[in-house]
Amino acid sequence: MAYKFTGRLFCSAALFSICSTVTLAQNATSPAPPVIDVHVHAMDGNFPGVAPMCPNTSKFTASDPKDKEAPFGWVKEECTPALYPSAPGEYIKDVIAEMERLNVTAVTFGDPKSVQKWRDAAPARIIPGTSFSNGMAPGQRVALDELRRDFTTGGFKVMGEIGLQYEGLSPSDPSVDAYFALAEELDIPVAIHMGTGGSGRANVAMPKFRGSMGNPLLLEDLLARHPKLRVQVMHAGYPMIDNMLTLLQANSHVYVDVAGLIWSYPIKEVNRYIERLVDAGFEDRVMFGTDQLVWPKLMSYSISMIQNADYLTPQQKRDILYNNAARFLRIDGAQGK
Ligand SMILES: [Zn+2]
Repeated sequence: MAYKFTGRLFCSAALFSICSTVTLAQNATSPAPPVIDVHVHAMDGNFPGVAPMCPNTSKFTASDPKDKEAPFGWVKEECTPALYPSAPGEYIKDVIAEMERLNVTAVTFGDPKSVQKWRDAAPARIIPGTSFSNGMAPGQRVALDELRRDFTTGGFKVMGEIGLQYEGLSPSDPSVDAYFALAEELDIPVAIHMGTGGSGRANVAMPKFRGSMGNPLLLEDLLARHPKLRVQVMHAGYPMIDNMLTLLQANSHVYVDVAGLIWSYPIKEVNRYIERLVDAGFEDRVMFGTDQLVWPKLMSYSISMIQNADYLTPQQKRDILYNNAARFLRIDGAQGK
């Protein structure tokens, strides 16, 4: 399906090769403190995954256009820990088992039918999200009234993932402004893909993708037009840290998530990026996310990246893993302090 090669493959940026040995997060004896994952996709396990997937690649290798290039630059290689897809038909069950074990609640994005499967499987752990181009070819849009119904009567809570960058469009493009106006009117937060993307083969696999359309400062006009809009910059605008900080400083309704980037790039680089966000004073606007697609153990792996971050205080870790998202999503009874 064309859409699968545009709006949803946001985390295919890495050429996975060598991985780290970060200990997987687990807690076998006492209930784990609550975690909110603000970036999960309502997949059913049919995503074309790589097995094993080696998180936090250490390098991105060159390719030559004279060779036949695979649509993704994912390299099949041995590593520890390696992440594997589920057995056929087991994916949703496996991820939800992980969410129970790790005490995770997840904002889960997709077309309403796909998200419903997840809601049915774990109603208390799924915060439903949907957007205006879910499951459609690039440029095709869900009717405004239909989307309005999703949020007013369908129980959806977040508008996302908005993948305009995969269409080569700025989030401030006037052609989609009515959707953002709707989100502002209904007081629904929006989650917009900004930054990381492509796969090292962007021109082959996703010819409309533009790295430049992930520039966080492209959100400025949108925010000026919709001053009450609550924005989640997915992937934290990676790697455009200076522009990301500029936007955060100027717009205090803006939060970021670290999904995708947390496991797609070299560990040192990931930690440096998150540390920079925190050191710049935005520790209360960084939210945890995975970009969960096809590997059930990705969730514990990604949590461990925050838990093992020696540059974060215990309080900052709890804020990133839970409190910041609870505030952004206005979840009552925020806990975890
Ligand atoms: Zn994305």
